[in-house]
Amino acid sequence: MKTTKTITTRCPSCYSKLDAATSMGDFKPNVGDCSVCIVCSELLRYREGLKLEKLTKQDWEEIGDDTITELRKAQNVVINIKKGNHGN
Ligand SMILES: [Zn+2]
Repeated sequence: MKTTKTITTRCPSCYSKLDAATSMGDFKPNVGDCSVCIVCSELLRYREGLKLEKLTKQDWEEIGDDTITELRKAQNVVINIKKGNHGN
């Protein structure tokens, strides 16, 4: 896992301040990349200036099934961390 500092932005869903992105691989967030809010597990996407927005219907069509599968996995990881079920 690798954590990269980003500009401080707010989750459009829960309004938490987010200033870093953690990825499973060696990866830095870029415009157009998808993400999951670590606080509320909302699926998000980086826009211009690495501002986070919720996924739109068009995003869902654009990103494809493989990415959606990965996002769902990441979302479950966040949900499980919130529940305190580390390692499940
Ligand atoms: Zn959030």
